[in-house]
Amino acid sequence: MIEEKEILQQWRGNVGFGLIDAIRRIHSLKFLQDLEVIQFESPNAIKRRQMILLEAYVDLVRRYSPLYREYESFTQFPIIDKVFANENRELLLNRGYLGKLFRKKTGGSTGQPFVYMTGVRSQSYLWAGILLNWKVAGYRLGEPVAMLAGPSLFGSGYKQLINYKLMNVRLFSAFDMSSEKLGAYGDEISRGGYRLLYGYSSAIHQLALHLLAVPVRQRFGLRGVVCTAEVLTQGMRETIEAAFGVPCFNQYGCNDAGISAYECEQKNGLHLITTRCYPEILEGGRLISTDMSNDAFFLPRYDTGDLVTMSAESCPCGRGFPLIKEVVGRSNDLVKDQAGHVVSSLFFTALFMADARILQFQVLFDNKQLAVILHCGETRSNWTGYIDRIRSSLVFDSITFAENAAFVKSPNAKHRFIMQVDDVESELAKTAETHRQVDSVK
Ligand SMILES: [Zn+2]
Repeated sequence: MIEEKEILQQWRGNVGFGLIDAIRRIHSLKFLQDLEVIQFESPNAIKRRQMILLEAYVDLVRRYSPLYREYESFTQFPIIDKVFANENRELLLNRGYLGKLFRKKTGGSTGQPFVYMTGVRSQSYLWAGILLNWKVAGYRLGEPVAMLAGPSLFGSGYKQLINYKLMNVRLFSAFDMSSEKLGAYGDEISRGGYRLLYGYSSAIHQLALHLLAVPVRQRFGLRGVVCTAEVLTQGMRETIEAAFGVPCFNQYGCNDAGISAYECEQKNGLHLITTRCYPEILEGGRLISTDMSNDAFFLPRYDTGDLVTMSAESCPCGRGFPLIKEVVGRSNDLVKDQAGHVVSSLFFTALFMADARILQFQVLFDNKQLAVILHCGETRSNWTGYIDRIRSSLVFDSITFAENAAFVKSPNAKHRFIMQVDDVESELAKTAETHRQVDSVK
């Protein structure tokens, strides 16, 4: 009986996703099926596939983009970024591409959104990579998914909403994370029969903290949780797993660069799908990547702005895709002091990681002051040891710790571990203001 039910579910999933693909005019199901086989090929076999794809891509770029005609080989291509792409949009568009075009928007480093195009292959790969990750977390095609995120992940507009409806995905907004809303989200996810929870790491972590803090423990029918778009620390993962009672997996994507990486059961790092992208790591860990599947709009050797460390080891799971050991963060997740010293969010993650009192943190800094906002169970702790440690690496007139003040939100609702602000004092005053307002409501 159970088997019959599963077969029916699988059939519904396949038919449903086949229909979604047909409506979107992409082939995510086909790419997913291919990836499920290719992922277990040897690293060498995957490398061979990648080199064949790269060669074909370079030929295409040189043929259809006047910008690249003069270059003889891929290694001569310059490293480019969003600014370059914005200035050369027309010349990067493949005039020989006749398929469906997808217009994409992503946050730019200057705060201006970056608009680029992708084609059918790239769009199919994007979804296949996500579904592959969901499947590792236990998800089966067609099962109900709860997505807790902001618009950068789920997009907006009626087309997307129809897509999600067909995919059996219900959206929960990460913008409104008040205590009442978190309670409602918990109830709905518990009662709605959801099998997978997917979304921003910080939002899911916040929901998990809320669920652990309320007296009545809820039951969930989830098979797994997949966190994306932000750094997931070991402490956050443990809290999420405790709250939902299922394993929590990490995912990393950077669509403009063709980066799609997923965690397997071993949780040894993130398997990077290198039949889609050709990654290069510069000194300091800067990730440059070429989306070989984007044959509609060329962004070869594109600077992701992300810092990563790769693992030299192969994964015991048997998957041949190389492992990103760690996504250190965005290169704008860096603290710079007046003396020119620089540390990344990793410095703080490493600093606070083993401290069970610290649940989550955010570092705010301006020219003179650095403040660490800590979310902690125990308050009135002595943090001077940490202040001394930070002082030994960074020069600021003042370094302060604020316990349980609200985090400063970025415009897209993502949690930023590091934020450069105009004035730390006034940001802290604003979060204190929010606290007072909440207190007065109570
Ligand atoms: Zn693995």
